[in-house]
Amino acid sequence: MERTDPHESEQVTRAPADFRLDTKLAQAGNRRDPATGAISPPVYYSTAYAHPALGQSTGYDYTRTGNPTRQILEETIADLEQGVRGFAFASGMAAISTVFGLLRPGDHLVASNDLYGGTYRLLQQVLGRIGIEAAYVDTGDLAAVERAIQPNTKALFIETPSNPTMKITDIAACAALARTHGVWTVVDNTFMTPYFQQPLALGADIVVHSATKYLGGHNDVMAGLIVVRDDTLAEQIGFLQNSIGAVLGPQDAWLLLRGMKTLALRMARHEQNSLAIADWLRAHPSVEKVYYPGLADHPRRDIHVRQARGFGGMIAFEVKDSTQIAHILASVKLISFAESLGGVETLLTYPARQTHADIPQDIREQCGVTERLLRLSVGIEDAGDLLRDLDQAFSIQ
Ligand SMILES: *Cc1c(COP(=O)(O)O)cnc(C)c1O
Repeated sequence: MERTDPHESEQVTRAPADFRLDTKLAQAGNRRDPATGAISPPVYYSTAYAHPALGQSTGYDYTRTGNPTRQILEETIADLEQGVRGFAFASGMAAISTVFGLLRPGDHLVASNDLYGGTYRLLQQVLGRIGIEAAYVDTGDLAAVERAIQPNTKALFIETPSNPTMKITDIAACAALARTHGVWTVVDNTFMTPYFQQPLALGADIVVHSATKYLGGHNDVMAGLIVVRDDTLAEQIGFLQNSIGAVLGPQDAWLLLRGMKTLALRMARHEQNSLAIADWLRAHPSVEKVYYPGLADHPRRDIHVRQARGFGGMIAFEVKDSTQIAHILASVKLISFAESLGGVETLLTYPARQTHADIPQDIREQCGVTERLLRLSVGIEDAGDLLRDLDQAFSIQ
């Protein structure tokens, strides 16, 4: 079938590839509708697209296969992550499930041992059932990764910094090792976003995002993204996206694009506030331990600084006495006790009972997710207001 890409028209001037990320983000979706000159791209709700003639297509036929609004988002994330193609899904888990669609029964996967709880549940309770096995290691320990690779290992799945204890994995070293074994490296880049870290440029093959978090940024849209390094993977993921069908709807694609326009400003502020809060927590007598890559003595911080441009907005901390947990969760007034991250509002989570509840207690505790651990997703409010709220929540009446 003959296809013409309506966006390839000569009137459409794309932002040159050498613009900085801040510029690309602010301009996301602009100059994509030459017919009207719309600065904010239109939302195409149409599920079906008319064929100009037998054997011809406008480039769009049926919205699961391709939607103009979704395509703008997919091209934007591909450009930001320096990949060849991007794909948008209804959630982060839908994106991750689609990546795992590359695997077959009998295949094996190596993953970070303090993986996002939902990814762990998918691997254990869904993929395990169809004969795809996973081994969990500290992917920051390259020798442990190498020992875990088997002849049937197809993929290495990493999160760095990890959730919630901010363990650092060397993406370039892992990707190089995986490549020598013919293993794909998949990086869940949700915590850093392409603004701070670009795994494909470091040698990874596939990047996934829960765009529900920082990319969307406003706790109001659920979405997942995949970006791939080469055309072969692009073809395979494209086939899986269309076959499985867990695609992102056009309105949510637009909302996500709109959120992404301010990503640069938000990430800078998340980080500025987090540095202040991490220092404050560290000095607090009730706090045992603080996990934040921005702290000077954070383990493997040198690797993080080499591969990322920032430290992000996620902090985990352990209080000395577990009886304080309920008090703190009940006492915060500005900060909300809620289970997500990456939005403009500061949220406080109790990982052992929420995000990581599906991980068996012994494995959880080995990864530092104890009954005394809390996780903060630091928002973009005034840092002084956040510190005052924490201060009153920590004080025992
Ligand atoms: C939230 C999250 C996911 C899952 O994404 P959803 O959009 O909730 O489906 C995956 N990985 C990480 C690191 C996350 O924080």
